[in-house]
Amino acid sequence: MLGGRSIQLARVFGVRIGVDPSWFIVLFLIIWLLSDVYGDVYPTDDTKAFALATVSALLFFLSVVLHELGHALVAIRNGIGIAGIDLWMFGGIAKMTRDTDSAGVEFRVAIAGPLVTLAIVVLCAGLGILLTGGGGFAVGLDSTAQTSGVELVLAYLTFVNTVLLLFNLIPGFPLDGGRIARAIAWWRTGDRARATRFAATLGRGFSLLMIALGILLVLLPEDTLLPGRPVLTGVWLVLIGFVLGGAARSADLQSRLASRIGGIRVADVMDAQPVAVGSGAHLDRALEDFFLRYRWPWFPVVDDVGRFVGLITRSEVETVPESARAGQTVEDVMTRDLSGTLRVSTDESLERVLDAHTDGLQRLGAVMAVDGDGILRGVVTLNQVKRALRPATSAV
Ligand SMILES: [Zn+2]
Repeated sequence: MLGGRSIQLARVFGVRIGVDPSWFIVLFLIIWLLSDVYGDVYPTDDTKAFALATVSALLFFLSVVLHELGHALVAIRNGIGIAGIDLWMFGGIAKMTRDTDSAGVEFRVAIAGPLVTLAIVVLCAGLGILLTGGGGFAVGLDSTAQTSGVELVLAYLTFVNTVLLLFNLIPGFPLDGGRIARAIAWWRTGDRARATRFAATLGRGFSLLMIALGILLVLLPEDTLLPGRPVLTGVWLVLIGFVLGGAARSADLQSRLASRIGGIRVADVMDAQPVAVGSGAHLDRALEDFFLRYRWPWFPVVDDVGRFVGLITRSEVETVPESARAGQTVEDVMTRDLSGTLRVSTDESLERVLDAHTDGLQRLGAVMAVDGDGILRGVVTLNQVKRALRPATSAV
């Protein structure tokens, strides 16, 4: 459902904030439901009820973005990249480019979101109590036409953020509470994979509970139920139960897979006889001896002692006019691997490569394996990685 094709809304601290199309459905649903609730408070003023509902819904989503920014900023401060924050049907997601590498970082990243939400609850409740002089700020339940719009919105934000906080603290992965449980188990056992499986099992348990509770809410006769819209809440619980259960299940599978491939190193799967172009080669020779001969779109480039320096693509060679190719060398047009993102060490574990180099693997289909002196020792292609993973995948 989250295909990464979200619509960009803004950029905050360099983090892209986007919305999935499914988010609009929830936005309209919330505005519609709240218009109804506020309509009971202001029975003679539909426009006011609708305007307040819209403001409330937008501020609720701002709260969700702030919650996710909490996770994102702590992740960034610990050296973990954030590909963006997306809002969708079931809330927000801060997409980290890799997993945390210690129990402490996992804990801090996980707790940052709930702490932001707690701060929002305290702020909104505090402002509400100040405005009403402490008395009638009972989450808008005893609101009358004398209640101001600001008080109503503050009461709603206090209520909805409290629900968000409690829901997020349910100790089942991938909810924040589950990540906190994972961090604690990781810290106690020193075993990340075991901790992940523990938290994922809790997550699957809670997802089943949510589905059961949701079905109960939908099926029970109306008069035995709490006020509000139990059927809608029930349907929402069933849906979110399925989504969370699925996420917990895939985290579990991924962690099992990671522990299986933990022992495999780059040197075990790489092609140890890589074809490389010398950086001093003339472009006409490079085209003839490499691109036309092997018909590959790119080649690694090595210097005169065999150190990996970058990549050359056929289109880079072809940007130079044919008549000038004999006078220029590969070094003149190649893409240098200055940031080191195209290379891995031969004794790196395959798990780390998948974790940190998925970008290069996906874009190029390969990463270059180098030894301690930077000498090119092999090429690891996506196909080799997939082949190495296949027995493990089918076994889980
Ligand atoms: Zn969170």
